Amino acid sequence: MRRQAGQAPAHSDFQPTPRQAQTGARQTGPGKLLQPVRVPAPLSRPPRPTGKRVISPLLTDFKSGAPNMSVALSKHRGPDRDSVMNIGFSSKAVRPRRLLVAGGFLVSVLLTGLLAAALLPAGCLPPRNPPYSYRPARHVILVIGDGMHLEHEIAASRYLHGRDRALAWHSFSEKAYVTTWDVDTYNRYAGRAGAAPYSEGDFAPFLGYDPARGGKAPFPDSLEGTERYFLTRLPLKEQYGNRPAAYPATDSASAATAMATGHKTDAGNISWRRGGPPAGGLQTISELLDRKFGAELGIVTTVPFTHATVAAFASHNTSRHNYYTGRKGYAGRGIAEEIIDYSKPEVVIGGGHPAWNNPGFDTDRGYISKQAYGQLQRFGDYVLVERIKGQPARTALAAGLLRARARGKKLFGLFGGADGSFEHRVPLNSPGSPAVGRATMENPTLAEATQCALRLLRARGKRFLAVIEQGDIDWANHRNDYRWMIGAVADLDEAVDQAVRFVDQPDDGIDWTNTLLIVTSDHANSYMRLIAKDRLKRGRLPRQVRSGERWTYPDGEVSYRSGKHTNELVTVYARGRGARRGGRYAGRRYRNTRILDNTDLYRIMAEACGLSPLPQGRR
Ligand SMILES: [Zn+2]
Repeated sequence: MRRQAGQAPAHSDFQPTPRQAQTGARQTGPGKLLQPVRVPAPLSRPPRPTGKRVISPLLTDFKSGAPNMSVALSKHRGPDRDSVMNIGFSSKAVRPRRLLVAGGFLVSVLLTGLLAAALLPAGCLPPRNPPYSYRPARHVILVIGDGMHLEHEIAASRYLHGRDRALAWHSFSEKAYVTTWDVDTYNRYAGRAGAAPYSEGDFAPFLGYDPARGGKAPFPDSLEGTERYFLTRLPLKEQYGNRPAAYPATDSASAATAMATGHKTDAGNISWRRGGPPAGGLQTISELLDRKFGAELGIVTTVPFTHATVAAFASHNTSRHNYYTGRKGYAGRGIAEEIIDYSKPEVVIGGGHPAWNNPGFDTDRGYISKQAYGQLQRFGDYVLVERIKGQPARTALAAGLLRARARGKKLFGLFGGADGSFEHRVPLNSPGSPAVGRATMENPTLAEATQCALRLLRARGKRFLAVIEQGDIDWANHRNDYRWMIGAVADLDEAVDQAVRFVDQPDDGIDWTNTLLIVTSDHANSYMRLIAKDRLKRGRLPRQVRSGERWTYPDGEVSYRSGKHTNELVTVYARGRGARRGGRYAGRRYRNTRILDNTDLYRIMAEACGLSPLPQGRR
């Protein structure tokens, strides 16, 4: 279904649709409109990291317990880190100001001129006739930390660097916050307010997320959000969907659908219209870029490749649980088959390997059918790279990459462990010297998988969209497992660093003038708060004790108020072509804030690539 590259599109500036303009100003039913808001403090820009940064000085092979220096990923923030470019429009074109000298009031004119010069520094003048035309991005790299909240970013940054915001994305030029609510979330709040259920053409953004009660920024950038707002269970009443009370929050499927298609949908839908109507598949950003430009898609995840977040960019289904054709109780085409037989991304690297997860191909579990796995093995469109006992994944991926390039094939990396996902990264409690190990070399780190995928996409020489997910952060948070969470965010940090280096690499035609890199999260989870922050220094992990399925922190450094997703804001960071223009979406729905909606990410990616965000049709 991949098409040949089309010609470059004429860029047209995005204008908000009438609907957006309406919803931006619409009042919530019975309640009040958002209180008059203060202009929030600009997102803090951390001091730019300097010198050497060693993120994983020691990677330990946890099977043998022996340090494995041969695979240590030592990282540093070199000059590349300091050359964060602002690629978007800047107000450089300045018209010379002319002083009109009138009459004999020379002194007053001079004073006025001086005053004007002081009040209107050159950069504030609006640009006219910009001396350049806008060139769209050719490549988009979207990185998603599943279930990651700002407080998790800060926790990992403290562990790795001893500072709050020193992860790979914290130095990006554009930062904003994102609302993540889906249709279920909206309808839980709407039910409480007695307002109408969500309708795509007519809804009140403040019912989905209310900055007056949740804060204009996530904790700790704002202290305004209340537990009462986030942690009150609300039912989906009968006319709203009829489900028991739960915390209002999106799930990963509807959140990924919002980013992939620009549409809000019900929990569990994979790029499918709310209500799950027949033929309700929604056009994804990957399909749009393929159709317009013949752009290639790459998907990478630490969890099974059929899992919701990446699946929403490569398949369509009424349920995230319909992992494969023939799964018990499901008669339709599975997500795995749609990916392998139909959407056929240029590269897929993820978990779900049946040999580890479901060797008997039981149809009530697992992530891939016997038939789909057999098809991958038969060497059709894909070179298959599998997890092999005793073989480092990095070597296997490198060999697979060579084969795929030599034979002009796509690449499928199928890994994972007993639960389908890559084994967790394992941070050590070693004050002063943080170290993030790995349970096995047989699964790649997210950085290794990312590097392999980006290299293959680059070798194709076409436009591409790469979607890269760290899926463990969410699972760690469901368990309130701080250690696991730190390892997962560190894994994401390495992957983003890898992506930055990939774009930085000179002379390969891929650079910040034609590539947009976005790092975000699909939703928050666990309502974690750092209590005794001063004790969480570099390399230091709190003592944690297991209590049933979850973990507790007897020394009180950390608190978890939930094991579920929350409707808290998440963060988004962007760098490269289109990043600054994308930043202009912040505050469109919620004035005087830096908040954008997760559906805006679809529009930002489309716009960065030179497309006017289109009316959303069925595919
Ligand atoms: Zn989750």
